[in-house]
Amino acid sequence: MNKSKIGDGDFTIIAGPCAVESYAQMEKIGCFLDSLNVRYLRGGAFKPRTSPDSFQGLGFEGFRILREIKNKYNFEIVSEVMDPRDVEKAYEYIDIIQIGSRNMQNYTLLKEVGKLNKTILLKRGMSATIKEWIMAAEYIRSEGNENIILCERGIRTFENYTRNTLDLMSVPIIKSKTEYPILIDPSHGTGRRELVLPATKAALAIGADGVIIEIHPEPSKALSDGFQSLDFDEFKKLVNDIEKIKA
Ligand code: PEP
Ligand code: MN
Repeated sequence: MNKSKIGDGDFTIIAGPCAVESYAQMEKIGCFLDSLNVRYLRGGAFKPRTSPDSFQGLGFEGFRILREIKNKYNFEIVSEVMDPRDVEKAYEYIDIIQIGSRNMQNYTLLKEVGKLNKTILLKRGMSATIKEWIMAAEYIRSEGNENIILCERGIRTFENYTRNTLDLMSVPIIKSKTEYPILIDPSHGTGRRELVLPATKAALAIGADGVIIEIHPEPSKALSDGFQSLDFDEFKKLVNDIEKIKA
């Protein structure tokens, strides 16, 4: 099964840490998500960090951990690839390959994943217009791969209370201009954990196909993006609140 069911009508919740840090961390998260029947697990093995001194991810060891957790709990795995040379290897481990905001216009990478029979999650570049984002998706499609999911993760504006400005209007615009499912990333879109729940409710209300959310067993100890990660209690509340609104 290489085509994901995201966009088939249900509001999909993808969750997991910003970065895969260890087997123990992923086992805790996997067990927790399985208990809530969340079926999509995210986790970065290759991390595009602003500073080269920050944790860069576990690389292929991270992919191996993700696959072990997938096999144990039967998740669909979402993880980023940054280098065209890693695409072939990622194919074996990852169900949905994420192209991050910083690589939205890395055309070599887009063309490489365009050759795959695999779903691609294409995040919006932080300074990209909607048109440029759609054109980036065209690079993937032009190589033959039409299994594309778009992800709005906020754009750079003058506002700095939030990490990015979440452009919710991209949802109806993408829906009117393309056939692709669209997810919202409330974690990077706001950069503040207390805004993740309201942004998720807004995503549901405006017709997004789902959300991708960062969680961590102990956000204060996370190796990346802890400030925007939900702990288990906060995430459980989010899942329950969304279920209630949908009912
Ligand atoms: C991520 O999902 O952890 C990430 C780095 O996202 P973005 O590319 O949107 O910054
Ligand atoms: Mn992150």
